[in-house]
Amino acid sequence: MSAINTFLLKNNLRIATNPCVSPDFCLDWATLRGAIQSAQPIHVWPHSRFETAAGKWVLLEDVATGDCAWRLDARAGSAAVNTLADGAALTDGAAIFPATFSNLLTLKNLIQAYHPASTVFPSATEQLGRSTLGIGARFTTLHWPAVEWAMAQLGIGVTANQNSIPRELVYDTDVMLAGKLDTVPFPFIGTNVPEGHQGQSVEGMSHGCVLSKLKTGFHTRGIAWSFNADHQPIGGKFDSREDALVTGCVLASYITFDLSPELAQTKVADDAAAWCDVHVPAALIATVKARVAHAGLTLNENDFSKLLAYVWPSLQKMKVRDGKYAAARAQAFTTEVGRAYLRELSIDELPGLTTPETTAIMLALCEALGMKIHFVAPAFGFQKNMPYPDNAALRSLIEKQWAVCSNFGASIGFHSGSGKSAENYQVMGAVTGGRLEIKTSGRYTYEMGRGLFASKNPADQALWRDWYRFTLELALLGAYSTDATEQKMARVFIVDALSKSGQPTEVFVSPAVTRAALEALTPSPEHMFWFEYNFLHVLAADGRADKAALGDHTPAGYRQRARFYTISDEGRLNFAKNIAAYIVFLARNTGLASASTCTAAETRLAGYSSLASMLNDIAKA
Ligand SMILES: [Zn+2]
Repeated sequence: MSAINTFLLKNNLRIATNPCVSPDFCLDWATLRGAIQSAQPIHVWPHSRFETAAGKWVLLEDVATGDCAWRLDARAGSAAVNTLADGAALTDGAAIFPATFSNLLTLKNLIQAYHPASTVFPSATEQLGRSTLGIGARFTTLHWPAVEWAMAQLGIGVTANQNSIPRELVYDTDVMLAGKLDTVPFPFIGTNVPEGHQGQSVEGMSHGCVLSKLKTGFHTRGIAWSFNADHQPIGGKFDSREDALVTGCVLASYITFDLSPELAQTKVADDAAAWCDVHVPAALIATVKARVAHAGLTLNENDFSKLLAYVWPSLQKMKVRDGKYAAARAQAFTTEVGRAYLRELSIDELPGLTTPETTAIMLALCEALGMKIHFVAPAFGFQKNMPYPDNAALRSLIEKQWAVCSNFGASIGFHSGSGKSAENYQVMGAVTGGRLEIKTSGRYTYEMGRGLFASKNPADQALWRDWYRFTLELALLGAYSTDATEQKMARVFIVDALSKSGQPTEVFVSPAVTRAALEALTPSPEHMFWFEYNFLHVLAADGRADKAALGDHTPAGYRQRARFYTISDEGRLNFAKNIAAYIVFLARNTGLASASTCTAAETRLAGYSSLASMLNDIAKA
């Protein structure tokens, strides 16, 4: 048994209440196999049926533990029990298999060989490479059904699974168990938090998002969707583990390349032009210059050399990494559709607002290096969760970028895309004609808070109160920190909450005064300090507001995570409705779905009084 499954079973951390930690969706096959063979009650997911050349399949689950199995009713004459690994025969002639990660990979080949247009797995269709919404999946199994509902009702596919790896997801559970995950600096809380701060592994997420499509029957709609391995770090300190990053992301149908780790350590030579003459092939430089000129831009020779010298080392590493993503898919998958993936180039991490010339040079370089870029993400000066204040200025910025992107056949990726105004999204959609992706992630943690806050269930209310208290204590700690950035940010968050509540903001006379002011506020998910610190509560050991407790990958952290996965049906319904409503809002304002389609979806959404009725509207009727 794998180390992660042993760890989870030993600590009674089961999939039902701690999903997507293990790459597998069956931790204890011996018990599940025995239960199925002895005809104990096991849930058969009614919408999950699909076929391959081997026969008819259905997904089974012991809902108490969350352990899953595949049942295959083979076509006459075929040897069912060897179709996947660890099979067992049933007396009725069917075969059953554990839902392991390696079985999932085999199943992908069987499904796509039989039915290339199948939408059980994420894919890289032309439409998904032109126009999509990036939906960060912070709460995994609680989250995906809402996205499936929205896609089904709107009739559009989106990036239905997305998270940054290794920042938010555990890239390797063995490294995690060895306590050797790297840390990520969070200057606004004045500390480093271990990577994978949401607790789930990338393989576990890859597995869970596929099973969710089968459980809800979303795959019966035939709507293609994608899975984005977001902000894959290139170069710098990530060189030593790039093979592990590639392996973990093998089911992603869409890769975002983030060059910033290599750029952070690149020193541009004093004579950049001379450096380029030595290090960059002359033919490639000529191709890039001609291509940029063809896109209608005039280059300043000096600026061009400086930019090229700055980005060339990272682009070479990107090319190597890209080859590894392709090779991993060629090795694991047997079909063209199963091997295909989309590419995004993230350049919003480069300093300052991105100029059209920079975008053009980067796209020309990727083109010359044989890497088709589907989305490019320039910096527009967005602040996370803040509307862009000037729509006319935004339009002008996007128009300049779009003139370049359209020339290269690339769409625009809007990073830090949550929390913009309806008018902002309208501008993004109108200028690009819908050839865009809006990336949203933190928004959905906020929607969980709103969902719990509004729930009448006592356990949901207790979780909400603890969650709010956690952020209040972190804000108080930060407000008196000796770390200047941490103190400044904490005070900004506190002042924002107080002023929006109509309270005096001169509260930093002493910690006691600050505490009294915060405790006098009515708890609300609209308070900025809750919003900014909230995501760290998910894996905080025993929920403690203590820097040392954050991003805890021991049982204390996972017991805390389980609290979120045991919320009530009312809490789940609230959360699902909030997510779906936000996706409809984005689709309406960007123009990805028509106003009448969005209105019909909103009306239907408002009518649900149970989660079951909402989930019932996902599979094709
Ligand atoms: Zn980015």
